[in-house]
Amino acid sequence: MSVREEFDEWATSGRDRGMEERHWHTAKEALARMPVEPGDVVLDLGCGSGYAGRALRDTYDAGRVYGLDGAPEMARNARSYTDDPNVGYVVGDFGALPFVDDSIDHVWTMEAFYYAADPHEALAEIARVLRPGGTLYCAVNYYEENVHSHEWQEFISIEMTRWNREQYREAFRTAGLHVAEQDNIPDREITIPAEAEFPLEDWDTREEMVERYREFGTLLTVGVAP
Ligand code: SAH
Repeated sequence: MSVREEFDEWATSGRDRGMEERHWHTAKEALARMPVEPGDVVLDLGCGSGYAGRALRDTYDAGRVYGLDGAPEMARNARSYTDDPNVGYVVGDFGALPFVDDSIDHVWTMEAFYYAADPHEALAEIARVLRPGGTLYCAVNYYEENVHSHEWQEFISIEMTRWNREQYREAFRTAGLHVAEQDNIPDREITIPAEAEFPLEDWDTREEMVERYREFGTLLTVGVAP
């Protein structure tokens, strides 16, 4: 199955909003760290419902926001959630970004990067479109140290890249980006039921759920274009 087939289905069944709700718990903390200045051009890769770009417009007065997604229905939904003329949505692939060199101030990507058919190629593309001093904020919940995420691949037809913290840093550097920060952002908002309620459908023990959300959370790696 292609990105388009898989995620068009998600979009038409409303899962774009469901993801937004869950991802927002940690995404908002990562977004708050981005050094976006008024007027900056921001690109959201694998934008889904497009919430991140809209938040950057609203809170930082970003000048122009592009949300790129490989699934046309995702881009269509995202478009329908705003009439802001400075936010645009494009259908495209991480492997060939439809932007000229040095044209983007900041790239954001949440829970999307690891779907790239070739993650090194995607990083090279990001490095190409970023202006000198531009940043990449790459946030993932699916990564090697988060053992609770490993089974996700079974439910998705697209091959997912499962790097560890160090592999992210190494790959950023190989693409020519400096690594400015790497951090685990805990999800403090998800409700974790009391001990007596376990096992739950998805969680055998409370301990595992605490580890997944409060300890591992979202892995954020920040790159800076030289
Ligand atoms: N960032 C959003 C959506 C995450 S779901 C959020 O935080 O909720 C991942 C999104 O990435 C999907 O909408 C999917 O269509 C898109 N995507 C996956 N692989 C892609 C690729 N190679 N090129 C472009 N978009 C891709």
